[in-house]
Amino acid sequence: MRLELLDIVKQRRDAAEFPVTFTSEDCAALSSSDYEVTSVSDFVVAVVITGRKMHITGSTSVELIADCSRCLKKTDVSIPVNLDFLFEISDEEVIDDEEDPCAALSDGVLDINELLAEEILMGFPTKVLCRPDCKGICPDCGADLNISECGCDRFVADPRMQKFLDVFKG
Ligand SMILES: [Zn+2]
Ligand SMILES: [Zn+2]
Repeated sequence: MRLELLDIVKQRRDAAEFPVTFTSEDCAALSSSDYEVTSVSDFVVAVVITGRKMHITGSTSVELIADCSRCLKKTDVSIPVNLDFLFEISDEEVIDDEEDPCAALSDGVLDINELLAEEILMGFPTKVLCRPDCKGICPDCGADLNISECGCDRFVADPRMQKFLDVFKG
């Protein structure tokens, strides 16, 4: 969805609201090789103009499926999104912040899909876990350690532990 911000300026309106709905195609377009976006909650983008400032706000939540960082199981991830942008305006222009430019703004048009794509990248967890205590998979045999302990001797795989064992041996 694209918001014609410049039109609001030209129409001399001081406020506007845009209901945003993401279709399944929009969600698919937001997906990447690392995650599949399943839904984006309907939300409203509010635009308020005060003098030469245009304030844009809106909040929603993106639901997606990604692989658990430890065991690779498909895991539901919810990313809260809070949009909050302040642009300068002139009679003919919506002016981006030079120091912190918004990639989704171009020629007075704000691309909401692109905006959400950025928000997902920023809000994406550094570690996706299917559960807080996920035990992961055995690096030796590939067994899912959440299901059963495979019996592999994995302690020697850790070099710090190897040193510790060497001390005892020596
Ligand atoms: Zn896991
Ligand atoms: Zn194993």
